[in-house]
Amino acid sequence: MDLFEYQAKKLFADHGVPVPSGKVATTPDEARGIATDLGGRVVVKAQVKTGGRGKAGGVKVADGPDDATARASAILGMDIKGHTVHSVLVEQASDIAEEYYASFLLDRANRTFLAMCSREGGMEIEEVAATKPEALARIPIDPLVGVDATIARQIAVAAKLPEAALDGATELLVKLWEVFVRADATLVEVNPLILTGDGRVVALDGKVSLDENASFRHSDHAAFVDVAAVDPLEQRAKEKDLNYVKLSGQVGIIGNGAGLVMSTLDVVTYAGEEFGGQRPANFLDIGGGASAEVMADGLSIILSDPAVKSVFVNIFGGITACDAVANGIVQALKIVGDITTPLVVRLDGNNAEEGRRILREANLDVVKPVDTMDGAARLAAELAAAAA
Ligand code: GDP
Ligand code: MN
Repeated sequence: MDLFEYQAKKLFADHGVPVPSGKVATTPDEARGIATDLGGRVVVKAQVKTGGRGKAGGVKVADGPDDATARASAILGMDIKGHTVHSVLVEQASDIAEEYYASFLLDRANRTFLAMCSREGGMEIEEVAATKPEALARIPIDPLVGVDATIARQIAVAAKLPEAALDGATELLVKLWEVFVRADATLVEVNPLILTGDGRVVALDGKVSLDENASFRHSDHAAFVDVAAVDPLEQRAKEKDLNYVKLSGQVGIIGNGAGLVMSTLDVVTYAGEEFGGQRPANFLDIGGGASAEVMADGLSIILSDPAVKSVFVNIFGGITACDAVANGIVQALKIVGDITTPLVVRLDGNNAEEGRRILREANLDVVKPVDTMDGAARLAAELAAAAA
């Protein structure tokens, strides 16, 4: 999960990384209030999860509250690389003497953590890496050792930061590493890291990516989720602990096992070509225990998507046998209630015969059992096309 700059800076501040004081606003009036409280010159910064906001006109210095209000109204609603600006960060303006770059990240290719630091900051770091690779220090970090003051200073020296910035940068890097570790981040990036006119080293920008696999030990991270950007069906699925991803097609998909569901998407896409380009409407893996409740939750989410014209339930019985799944489907249809969307069901593997018998005897109009995966995909695509 990527954070907005204002969220990243909140995290920085919580761990003692120096940042300018400021607050987030969603209206020009709120921006005026913050600018008034801060006093003096402020910066108004578009909050979007993409870089290059400065170049796009999304970062503006304002002389006072009136100017800040005008800047905020120009920036709010702006489109920056396909991201609409819904909020701005209003911050005390900084007196910048120099701009540097610093980051810690998970270096998957080399199976380690990496510190990157450069005297050349402000511009895109990819550009520095491409045009002046010698200006970008890259120092692997041993996770068992971490970053203490000695290592932090080595990083700053390797980046050729000037003497005047060394102490401040050392202190900041130690704290930035603490953010990285304590928040379970995969990236913390400061660009620019600045040296101010009065000799302080401050994080002027912040980019943080959190490892969602560690969310269970950070109840506070839930507050970082950008609710407006989350698909409502995906949100409902998450609340039910379902692995659901919304896609753009017409054929709803339920399967057990991520691999099976992935190949089901392929098979349906392929079969759908014959029927005017019918495509999967979602990914949904109901996992091992295909209970009636899980099946009902999955079906009700899939059927809430108005684009869905047919559903393909693709089950390969393993530890959970097909008869249990078949009973689950029958029960689930009672829970979900009257539905008209056809349900193409393919059961194979453990106790498949028994499962098919249960479905046949339940004699449900909407359920269309098919024995093979290809055949079922074809029927599901055909029914979706017919209902369109
Ligand atoms: P980005 O373009 O999305 O990376 O946004 P940044 O937060 O990095 O801001 C871009 C540039 O705006 C910085 O590199 C600075 O040169 C400039 N800038 C940001 N805040 C201030 C400030 O407080 N004072 C001044 N003078 N310039 C600023
Ligand atoms: Mn930046």
